[in-house]
Amino acid sequence: MKIKEFYKKNKVREGDKIQFDFKGQIVEGTIIPTSRNNLIIKFSSGYNAGFDLIQVKKVKKIGESKKVGKTSKIEIKKKPNLPTISLLHTGGTIASRVDYKTGGVYAGFEAEDIAAMFPEIIQKANFESILVSNMMSEDMTLKNYSLIVKAVEKEIKKGVKGIIIGHGTDTLGYSAAFLSFAVENCPIPVIIVGSQRSSDRGSSDAGMNLICATEFITKTNYKGIAICMHNSINDDYCAILSGTKTRKMHTSRRDAFKTINDSPIALINYNTKEITWVKKQEKLEKKMIIKEKFEKKVGLIKTHPGINEKILDFYKKEKYKGLIIEGTGLGHTPIGEKEIFIKKIKNLVDSGCVIGITSQCINGRVNSNVYSNLRKVSNTGAIYCEDMLPETAFIKLSWLLGNYSKEETKKMLVKNLRGEITSYTRIDVYDE
Ligand code: ASP
Repeated sequence: MKIKEFYKKNKVREGDKIQFDFKGQIVEGTIIPTSRNNLIIKFSSGYNAGFDLIQVKKVKKIGESKKVGKTSKIEIKKKPNLPTISLLHTGGTIASRVDYKTGGVYAGFEAEDIAAMFPEIIQKANFESILVSNMMSEDMTLKNYSLIVKAVEKEIKKGVKGIIIGHGTDTLGYSAAFLSFAVENCPIPVIIVGSQRSSDRGSSDAGMNLICATEFITKTNYKGIAICMHNSINDDYCAILSGTKTRKMHTSRRDAFKTINDSPIALINYNTKEITWVKKQEKLEKKMIIKEKFEKKVGLIKTHPGINEKILDFYKKEKYKGLIIEGTGLGHTPIGEKEIFIKKIKNLVDSGCVIGITSQCINGRVNSNVYSNLRKVSNTGAIYCEDMLPETAFIKLSWLLGNYSKEETKKMLVKNLRGEITSYTRIDVYDE
């Protein structure tokens, strides 16, 4: 069912407060606009969640939708002495809020809306708003990434000082990795910003993350893709984090995003607006190259005790071109009775699928030379992905297979292209 039909059938619309039954549980919240065919609800706690329309039953309207936003917009005039930042919206918590005074839903996409929400940032730059999509990031597909890349390319070609991409936090790391691979030699800062708490909550991180990203873009000559999020649970610093080595490590904390196996790029002091570089920046003056293709038949699985080896048959039957396996420890997969798991991996490799091995440990590096069992896996032709994050390895494999031959893909998977693989395992970056 389409979302519009759902609204019609249940006589509700965006901004209405509703109550419904979802798998036997009573859910209550306000309908948030969406471009996808599932119901997006904002709870009174400020959190958003998506619901499969088929499972939503007994819908009851308990509060009317009201028009909001238009009156609270601030008129802004472009200042010729300020740089221009393009603000690309893709959706997520950062893009929506409920006006609690009126009960209506407000998606602040225009520069004027941003100004009304965060007046501080329009003192620093002129903003151009572009709506790429309006979705929860768990709904994103590789196709969405290509669209974001195309929008980024367009803005770079306009000659803007930098780009901020508003994004849901759940899969922000995947998008950051895709952009990092797809936009080679990015000539300007492209900073992805999310928020763990929406802008209608007192504890929201949206404003500070956006302000810090703006500061970073206007004050530095950084070139490349990065993420800007809270560095601690306090409103003191934001961190600029690698697009290929960063992971959401907490479900709700504002400092959920951490760089793994590497250090952050820079820190921004929210009070003084001072920027401290943590990583040395390379001078990059090469021509930008955009490659936004991807291979969609790529999977990511996690091994576990008792895993059924038949899971690998699925990827063979469906003719997958690539698979990342999150093994345990140094990159172990089960051997299986009579080495059945290893045989299945070999079958899959022989069928033409490129298999990459990463670790569930997240921190550290896989190593196929330590145990003989690991060598058995490596003898199948599966490739050990050094200290790459499983999510980044998945995105990289899909991107490589979309843009390069299989042989090139195999070589490039273990070659550092955008900072996704470090040359040695740093012990100083592990949070003890
Ligand atoms: N589930 C949401 C998303 O990733 C959470 C958020 O917006 O941060 O889109």
